[in-house]
Amino acid sequence: MEKFIYLDNNATTKTDEKVLEAMLPYFKEDYANPSSMYNPAYVTSRAIDNARSQIADFLGVENKKNIVFTSCGTESANSAIMSVFNKSQNPTKHIITTAVEHPCVMAVYEHLEKHHGAKATYARVNENGELDVENLLSKITPDTILVSIMHANNETGAIYPVYDIAKEVKKINKNIKVFVDGVQAAGKIPIELDNTDIDFYSISGHKFHAPKGIGALYIKEGTLFDPYILGGHQENLKRAGTENVPYIVGIGEASMLAKEALTIENTKVKDLRDKLEKGILAKIPNAKLNSKSKSRVPNTTNIGFEYIEGELILLYLNDLNICASSGSACTSGSLDPSHVLRAQKTPFTCLHGSIRFSLSRYTTEEEIDYVIEKLPGVINKLSKISPFQNELKELWGDKFNE
Ligand code: PLP
Repeated sequence: MEKFIYLDNNATTKTDEKVLEAMLPYFKEDYANPSSMYNPAYVTSRAIDNARSQIADFLGVENKKNIVFTSCGTESANSAIMSVFNKSQNPTKHIITTAVEHPCVMAVYEHLEKHHGAKATYARVNENGELDVENLLSKITPDTILVSIMHANNETGAIYPVYDIAKEVKKINKNIKVFVDGVQAAGKIPIELDNTDIDFYSISGHKFHAPKGIGALYIKEGTLFDPYILGGHQENLKRAGTENVPYIVGIGEASMLAKEALTIENTKVKDLRDKLEKGILAKIPNAKLNSKSKSRVPNTTNIGFEYIEGELILLYLNDLNICASSGSACTSGSLDPSHVLRAQKTPFTCLHGSIRFSLSRYTTEEEIDYVIEKLPGVINKLSKISPFQNELKELWGDKFNE
């Protein structure tokens, strides 16, 4: 076993050894600025070119020119949304997204509403966390310029039917742009962007075993783009700043490895996730499944522990060297219950005690068995100090005092 059991792979993943190996020469001997006019620069510019082809292949895109490297998923999302907003001539600028997006979309929508006069509308999800597509489409007005939807939810793993939604949106008005936040889908499910109606698609390397600090944005051929970061001529004038060559090489390599490992995600990772989920639900009487969507990524489960404080569970798990999360990495630390769980009307009894476990291809069966063995004791201990003793005694029955 590793020093700790890492079940927080939706927050970030460990860098694959092969990715690190591929990156190292670009820190050492091959460090030339790719824009320069001497031979060593051809080596680095070729490396970027190769990584761009790898990402295009990973995303099912034939023309690698449609891929732009960025610093992270947040930058990719911000730049896509701001581009649509800046390019639009519509004076009203109505923008639609879902109630369960990551803060990298939510915060931009709120900003545009507060400071730039946009009108934002949020589509709902049902109690299983599935997107209400009819509700989303019904919000489109003649002033709608953008629809943003995530491909997979970071907290529950629910997959949203982004290809179909994009198609329906364009049927209503082909000028509406569609942005998809693919950060939690990349490396977990196959992605095929060519011949779809998606205009922009974002990914982030550190969610699929590349290092933190590198992302990419797909921009559909013919879709206008207003660069977010201005300066030099890099990235075909779409994203200025000297290219982060080692990290670009890293995300390229990681995308190839992730593509090869998709079958492992759908077999080994999924089986271990299912084992963990079933084990917890069978052994812990106050455990309730929050990840109820019919369609979801193979590595994620979110489980609510009624009448228990999530932060306490995490502290106890930390003592057992188990890393998990309550809510997304970006909202943990705040005491507000998750907006995703609130949107799917998770009962208040579970709202503060929900834990996300997210696995990776490195997760072992031994680790999952250890969590299934230890977690019931943690929840039982916390049940005994919960202010809701009576409710918990009833749920646990004879096992309460074990
Ligand atoms: N979108 C989703 C769905 C995410 O889960 C995350 C990170 O957790 C992001 C975007 C942001 O990605 P990054 O950390 O690379 O900025």
